Amino acid sequence: MTIEKKVAFVTGGSRGIGRAIVEKFAEEGYVVGFSYINSKEVANELINELKNKNMEVFALKFDVSNYVDCCEKFEYIYEKYGNIDVLVNNAGITKDKLFIRMSEEDFDKVTNTNLKGVFNCIKQVAKKMTKKRSGAIINMSSLAGIVGNVGQANYSATKAGVIGMTKTLAAELGPYGVRVNAIAPGFIKTDMTDKIPENIKDKIISSIPLKIIGYPSDIANLAYFLASDQAKYINGQTISVDGGLSSI
Ligand code: NAP
Repeated sequence: MTIEKKVAFVTGGSRGIGRAIVEKFAEEGYVVGFSYINSKEVANELINELKNKNMEVFALKFDVSNYVDCCEKFEYIYEKYGNIDVLVNNAGITKDKLFIRMSEEDFDKVTNTNLKGVFNCIKQVAKKMTKKRSGAIINMSSLAGIVGNVGQANYSATKAGVIGMTKTLAAELGPYGVRVNAIAPGFIKTDMTDKIPENIKDKIISSIPLKIIGYPSDIANLAYFLASDQAKYINGQTISVDGGLSSI
């Protein structure tokens, strides 16, 4: 008897946290798909690296903020792989500026990617998951969505929005066996945080109770747990992974 492999799809899986989530699910035996928007070479390298380890992975280039693009790509995934058991809405961007200087364009770009992108992707899987009476959706929020952050009016609004959407969908989809949870990372070492000047990074790290930066694998481990049966009674939660920063 062959056991059918579960399928996970991770948006923004070419780099950073998304990449660690792709690696974790692939290592644990999932068929894993991921999206990217620009990093074609990096995505291909990741595919080759994991395929060389006999893992089943695929990548699709599309913009999560484009609804039509999302419809087409998810239709392709369902046709080719038959199902999506786990959706991780990870793709996200920042366009930081003090509110006074923030342009409408910077607000729209961040909102369309970080919040509308989550809506666009969940729309493609929700009905199918409820029909199947199973599925797990994990949305990437942020510490900034819980406590706010200077220079991130756009970003923090999207990440707070993700928490609201997570709670609502947990209530709407829960009765059909679909769990929806969010993760709120603190300060994690990726390209997104590498952009921050060293002196500010040092200041942030000194304010973290554990006094260290987090790593993408710290988030990937929780994402994998939340998707698993070990978390079968966890629904509608936003779990912080931030070295204690949100608790002070
Ligand atoms: P990152 O290193 O900048 O990677 C972002 C990923 O998202 C890349 O794979 C990128 O693709 C993809 N992406 C960006 N815009 C996209 C779009 N419109 N459509 C599809 N894919 C898109 O970011 P990260 O630090 O790993 O962050 C991942 C998530 O965690 C984000 O939602 C972020 O807000 C959240 N988060 C991060 C931190 C942190 O400290 N790093 C803290 C809290 C929350 P390309 O490679 O093609 O550009």
